[in-house]
Order: sequence, then C-alpha cells, then structure tokens
Amino acid sequence: MSSTLLWLNNDLRIHDNAALALAAEYQQPLICLFCVDIRWLKNNRYGNRSMSDNRWQFLSESLADLQTSLIHMEQQLYIVPGLPTKVISQVIEAHDVSHIIRSQHCGYYENRDWLFLKKKYSKKIFCDAITHTLFNKTQLGLEGNLPSSFTKFRKHVDNLELIPTIGIRKVLPSPLRLDIGQEDSCHLRKLATNAALPFKGGETNGLIHLNHYFSSNHPSTYKETRNALDEWSSSCKLSPWLANGSLSVRTVVNKLMQYEKEHGTNDSTEWIFFELLWREYFQWYAHQHQKRLFAFKGIGKKRPLTSFCPQRFKQWCQGQTNWPIVNACIKQLNHTGYLSNRGRQLVASCLVNELSLDWRCGAAYFEQQLIDYDVASNWGNWQYIAGVGADPRGGRHFNLDKQTNLYDPQKTFIRTWDKDIQPRAYLDAFDAADWPDEPSDHQT
Ligand SMILES: Cc1cc2nc3c(=O)[nH]c(=O)nc-3n(C[C@H](O)[C@H](O)[C@H](O)COP(=O)(O)OP(=O)(O)OC[C@H]3O[C@@H](n4cnc5c(N)ncnc54)[C@H](O)[C@@H]3O)c2cc1C
Repeated sequence: MSSTLLWLNNDLRIHDNAALALAAEYQQPLICLFCVDIRWLKNNRYGNRSMSDNRWQFLSESLADLQTSLIHMEQQLYIVPGLPTKVISQVIEAHDVSHIIRSQHCGYYENRDWLFLKKKYSKKIFCDAITHTLFNKTQLGLEGNLPSSFTKFRKHVDNLELIPTIGIRKVLPSPLRLDIGQEDSCHLRKLATNAALPFKGGETNGLIHLNHYFSSNHPSTYKETRNALDEWSSSCKLSPWLANGSLSVRTVVNKLMQYEKEHGTNDSTEWIFFELLWREYFQWYAHQHQKRLFAFKGIGKKRPLTSFCPQRFKQWCQGQTNWPIVNACIKQLNHTGYLSNRGRQLVASCLVNELSLDWRCGAAYFEQQLIDYDVASNWGNWQYIAGVGADPRGGRHFNLDKQTNLYDPQKTFIRTWDKDIQPRAYLDAFDAADWPDEPSDHQT
C-alpha cells in the first residue's frame, strides 16, 4: 500500500497546521519526519556552525513536544539526521511513498532540496501548504513584484483578509514504521541543557507564553516599551516559537485581535501587528530574492565598502569591542540565544559601520547564535542595516554613545552583561586557517 510522507520543517505544531491537515486527507499510512540537516552542525564558510547549542536545545525541546502531541494522536515523529535529499529519497524508496507534503519555505537552500526531489521523483505528488505567513501568493497577487519598501508593502496588504486558521485534526492516518533513524533520534535529545535559556521550546510552551502575554496589559504599552534592552515583558518574546513554527503567526494575530476586542485598540496593539507585517514582508522578500538574500551586494548593484578582518570579527563575536553597549549585547546573545530588536540593530550597525566588516559574517554569526533564527528575518534585516536591502534610506548607522544614553542611561544593562560569562560552545572554528578572504555566498 502506498504511503504519505509529511516532511516537517518550520511547522512544528499541531494547531493551525495546514501541512498536517493536508497529509491527513490521504487515507493511507502516514510518516511524519523531521530531518536534522547534518550541515547545521558543521563549520560553514563563515567559520562558524549554522546552529549553536542554544538553538539546538530549543529545537530539541520543540521536537520532543511535537513528538508527545503526535503520540497522543496515535502517530509518531521520526527525527532523522542526515542530508535531507538523501534521507527523504531513502524514505520514499523504502516505503512506497506516493505523496510528499511539506510547508512552503522561503529559503533558497530548502527550496533547492525540494526542487531536486520533485525532479528526481517526478511521478510522485509533491504539495506544499502555507503555514508560515499571514497571506498567500494568490492573495498578494504580486507575481514576482514585491513592493520595494516595507511601507509600500504595508499599504498593499492593508485591506487583505488573513488566511483563516484551521482547527486541530483529532484523527490522523495510522503511522508507518520507519526502520531508519531511531537510535539517532534518541541521541538528539540528550544534549546538555543551558539553564539560563529564557525560552523553553515547543508548541505547548509557545501557547502558554502567548496566552500569558495577552492576559497581561503589556500589549497596551508595547509601543513605549519595545525598545528596552533587557526587560522580559517589554516586547512579545514570541519570535523563537514563531521561527520554528511551534506557534502559528495567524494564531498570534487572532489572539491580538481578541485582545483588542476586550481591551481596545491603541497605538501599541497596532504596532504589534505592524511588526508582524515586517516579519511577513521579509518572508516574501526572501521568496522573491532567493539566493540574493545571501549575496554581498544584496538586492542592490553596489558592493558595500567593507573589508574582512578575522581579528576584528572575532572581537565582535566575543563582545570585546570598544563599545560597552555592543559588548553587553553580544554577551547576552551568546549566553541566552536571544537579543532585543534594539540590541540587534546596535551590534549590526557596529559591525557594518564602526568595524567596516562584511555584513554577511555578522548575519552568519546571528544564524548560529539566535534561537529565533529565521532565514528571512535574519538575512533581510541584516541587508537592511548594511544598506544592501529594502531600506529606501540606504542603511542604518546608529550613534552608539547616543543609543547608550537613551536606552541604558544608568549602565544597568552593561553592568549585567559586560562581564566574563563562560561562553557556550561557540567560536570553535576561529583558528581555522582556511578563512576565506571574501566569502562570496551563503552556504551551510
Ligand atoms: C540584524 C537583525 C537580525 C534579526 N534576525 C531575526 C531572526 O533571525 N528571527 C526573527 O524572528 N527576528 C529577527 N530580527 C527581528 C527582531 O529583532 C526580532 O523578531 C524581535 O527582536 C523578537 O523579539 P519579540 O518576539 O519580543 O519581538 P516583538 O517586538 O514583540 O515583535 C513581535 C513579532 O514581530 C516580528 N518582528 C518584530 N520585528 C521584526 C523585524 N525587524 N523583522 C522581522 N520580524 C519582526 C517577530 O516575529 C516578533 O516576534 C532581526 C532583527 C535585526 C535587526
């Protein structure tokens, strides 16, 4: 009998999961699989890994939670390490898979794998469901012409209906026993944990946090507090769950709308939606620009005036620059896997404008360290700050002294973080002799 393969990726949830719902429609045995791409844990051409232990921990917790939910539905999640194209090919061939389902992804490399498989198994049915965005391509009607700035995009989507959320499927097709990956999948969850990580992975924790945030009155003051450097309630803190899809962005917006109904709409609640539209914009930006998301020139025509100096970059990564505010931010990032939006802007501006380094090295370092790493939001924001992206003003240069006085006048944040904190498994590749002079492309 043929079977269906659901290849999970950035949709690690059972609520509002159109890919899971689609997979369940075919009345045949179902394999739910998450592939741990072994390239995430190897050094890339920027000299670091694509995934730090912190993000790894968050991901493992997310997978474990999904596993538990699927078991309650008499299904099973297979977590298999390897090269995705190889793992998926093996499964397709070993289990007579007729349908392969995934969530649509905006990443160039993820899509390259998907297209490779589609071509290799051209007789099979490949479908992708939209789970990571508020709108779909047809609704947007852009046909490859994404507005050149966020402001234009915001106006474009102003009157569009969001894709409605879908309910949880109570019954799933029966699981198919997979012979590969069992031992490895157990091993993956045995990683050392970092108790300092402020976020706990998984849909269950994501939904708890979402409900908690919108049961408080913090959303009504978001606009005034969102730039704080180190305050848990100053912003939503939803990004790690949104990034790996433990939370659906549409569920978040529904919750926001419900909050507005009960407590009233104000500038702050509208600003939360505005930020979620930034996220949306970068998703479609990545869809549109594909490989150029990682290009030195970005989507522009001019090469930025930056150089590459491994020593200076290493100091930035270790929080040993001449700017205490930057050092504190980097140490917070290294220790917790999270950094406020303001902190991200400051360290990125420092790397590009004060240290004159190649912005892609900073972006790749963020990719490694951030537990909320999202290919579109990360590389899109870096391009924006480096002046090679969607910023009509051509880049952002922050005055670091002024910013320190504004956001850390008593130096409390600096004192909290600018001290020797034992870093966690990062920088392991820094003595590599084979540093590229000028990395030309993103490659994991
Ligand atoms: C250089 C740089 C790199 C970044 N890399 C990432 C990344 O890899 N992953 C990521 O999720 N965000 C990234 N951001 C955006 C932003 O900093 C984080 O989304 C935000 O700090 C997360 O905290 P929060 O959930 O409390 O956000 P809030 O301020 O509460 O915002 C609510 C949500 O809106 C979205 N959002 C807010 N600001 C942005 C933005 N500028 N771009 C895209 N989405 C946004 C996020 O989903 C966020 O969870 C980056 C920003 C910069 C400047």
